[in-house]
Amino acid sequence: MACHLFLYRNLVYNLQMETTKKGKLFVITGPSGVGKGTILEKFFHNNNNIIYSISQTTRKPRPGEVHGVNYFFVTKEEFENSIKNDEFLEWAKYSDNYYGTNKKFVLKALNKGADVILEIETQGAQKIMEKFPDCVTIFFTPPNFDELEKRLRGRNTEDEDAIKKRLDKVKEELQLAKNYKYNIENDEIENALTKLQKVYDEEKNEH
Ligand code: 5GP
Repeated sequence: MACHLFLYRNLVYNLQMETTKKGKLFVITGPSGVGKGTILEKFFHNNNNIIYSISQTTRKPRPGEVHGVNYFFVTKEEFENSIKNDEFLEWAKYSDNYYGTNKKFVLKALNKGADVILEIETQGAQKIMEKFPDCVTIFFTPPNFDELEKRLRGRNTEDEDAIKKRLDKVKEELQLAKNYKYNIENDEIENALTKLQKVYDEEKNEH
């Protein structure tokens, strides 16, 4: 995501907050290519009181991705060490790479009263749902499979082999959408963004 300035501002703002009220944990998932990144970038632009949890991954950075902004890009050995040291709230293997959520960072933010968004795949989301039954789960769906394939190919960030692996996963992932509290179809970015904002505002008022 290219919204690192906003993410950084959100982070500083939230970690400085003095409050005893715990933050809310939001889990956002959906198949590769569904547009989560684009929607979230706009969402963070409009909401500077919520933190994006930056994951660790062994995947190579795509053009434009920045270490410490989009991900912490690490080696397989570094990732496996983090697993051994129990540094992850959850982790998963996805399309030949590891992805994991930093435990200390997320718990600290929640304890300080900040809301946190995890943008993770379905295996990790399942683990978070078990550990945090009160988390708010959101699944982004594509209008249809062909549109998703078009978007995944159109963004030109994976080779053919990686695209095939991701497309194979999509059907499996879409079956799981029913396990999430909210399903938001990304037919148009602005529509999906409006729906996400509504969910966030409603969940905030639920306390
Ligand atoms: P990508 O390689 O396209 O950036 O991410 C592949 C998938 O991994 C996406 O579905 C993304 O949401 C997911 N992902 C990113 N970070 C994490 C993480 O920390 N844990 C898990 N389980 N999945 C993640």
